[in-house]
Amino acid sequence: MQLKAPRGTYDILPPESSKWQYIEGILKETAETFGYREIRTPIFEHTELFERGVGTSTDIVTKEMYTFKDKSLRSLTLRPENTASCARALIEHSIYSGIMPAKWYYIGPMFRYDRPQTGRYRQFHQFGVEAFGSNSPYLDAEVIILLIEVLKRLGLKEYELHINSVGCTQCRDVYRQKLIEHITPVKDRLCPDCQTRYQQNPLRVLDCKEKSCHQAIVNYPTLFQHLCSDCASHYDMVKEALKANSIDYRHDDNLVRGLDYYTNTAFEIHIPGIGAQSAVGGGGRYNGLVEDCGGPDLPGIGFAMGIERLLLAVNTLAAKGLDSGKSDVFITTMSDQYELQALELLTRLRQKNIRAEKDYMGRSGRAQMKYADKLGARMVIIIGDDEIQQGYFTLRDMQSKEQVQIDKKEIVESVKDRLAKFRGGNG
Ligand code: ATP
Ligand code: MG
Repeated sequence: MQLKAPRGTYDILPPESSKWQYIEGILKETAETFGYREIRTPIFEHTELFERGVGTSTDIVTKEMYTFKDKSLRSLTLRPENTASCARALIEHSIYSGIMPAKWYYIGPMFRYDRPQTGRYRQFHQFGVEAFGSNSPYLDAEVIILLIEVLKRLGLKEYELHINSVGCTQCRDVYRQKLIEHITPVKDRLCPDCQTRYQQNPLRVLDCKEKSCHQAIVNYPTLFQHLCSDCASHYDMVKEALKANSIDYRHDDNLVRGLDYYTNTAFEIHIPGIGAQSAVGGGGRYNGLVEDCGGPDLPGIGFAMGIERLLLAVNTLAAKGLDSGKSDVFITTMSDQYELQALELLTRLRQKNIRAEKDYMGRSGRAQMKYADKLGARMVIIIGDDEIQQGYFTLRDMQSKEQVQIDKKEIVESVKDRLAKFRGGNG
C-alpha cells in the first residue's frame, strides 16, 4: 500500500513554502510593530485545559478534538486553538504579576476533526494575538486595527469586518433567558444539535450553520438591545476608536462566536471571493477565561486567523516580494577533476550569503549551463583547464552573455559587487 498524508493534512512543498515564509514574515513584523512578542506553547496539552478553556458545549470540544491517551494513560489533546494554552502559560508563569498588559502573538499548527474541504483542514495554521490584563476598549480597537493592518500589508483590500458585543455575564444571563423563551415554542424546527444545546446555551443557535435554525428563530430579541450600560458604553468606545482609525465595520447581531469564553467585543473578518469558508479570522474579549482556567480574575482580548484562508486570498493577487528561490551564481566545471575546487569556492561564496549552486548529477558542461539557467542564476563561474592553469575564473553574465576573466583571489568580492549592482539597478 502506498502511504499518503492523513486525510485533512497536506505537505507544503517548495515553491509554495516561500509563500508561507513571506506571509509569516509579514504577520510577525506587524505584530512586533504593535508591541506583541512571540509565545510558543506545546502542540498538546491536558484535555481538561480545552474542556475548561474552550467550553464543553462548543463544537470544538464536543466534536473536533484530537484526544488520545499517552502511555501513562493521561488524556492529552492536540491543541485545537491557542488562547486557552496562552491563558494556561500566563497563570503557570505568574506573568500577571509582572508588567501589564502582556501582549503575545503566535503562529503554528492547530488540529480539529473537521470535514475537510477548501479552506478547512484537520491540521491547519493560525496566527493570533492575545493581550491580557486590561479592559480598555481601546485595546479591543488596537487588536482589530492590527488585524486590518495585516490584511493591508498583504495587499488585501476587499474585506468585511463584522462586530458585535456579547455583553458580560450579567447582561447575558438576562438575555439568555429571553432567548430561551423565544426559542422554546419553535424548538422542533431546530437542527438536532441546537435542539440539545439551546437550553444550556441558546446563543449557539445564533451562530449555527444551519439555515433552518435561523428561519425558525426569526425576529429573535438581540443581545445588543440587552446590554447593560457598562457593556453598551464599552461597545460604543470600540466603535468610536475604529471610526477614528477609518476602519469600516458592520454591526452583526448574529455574531456571537463559537466559544464559551467571549465577553463584550466579538468580531470576525470575512474575505468574499475565497469560497464558502470566507471567515479568515475572528476574536474578541474573554474576560472570564483566565479565571475559568484557574487563574486570577484578569481580562483579555485576542483574535486568531487561519493562514490557509489568508493564502487563498493572497493567491488571487500577484504576490509581490515573494522569494523565488533563485540562485545568484552557478559554478560550472568543464571536467570532473575540478569539482573539489568548485565545492571549495561554493562554500566561500555561501559564507558571504551568496546563493551559490553547482551540479551534483554528472552533467556535461553544456547541460550544466542549461541547468544554471533553470535555477535562474544571474551569473555563472566557469572552471576549466585554462582557468586552473592560469589562476583565474571566467565569470559569465547570464543576461548580457558577456564573459570576463577574474583573478582567483578576487572572485568572491567581484561576484558580491556585481550582485549588489544588479539589485540596486532593478530591485
Ligand atoms: P469556521 O466557522 O470556519 O469553522 P471557527 O469559528 O471554527 O471557523 P475559529 O475557531 O474562530 O474558527 O478560528 C479562527 C480562524 O481559524 C477561522 O476564521 C479560520 O480562518 C481558521 N480555521 C478554523 N478552523 C479551520 C480549519 N479546520 N481549517 C482551516 N482553517 C480553519
Ligand atoms: Mg469550526
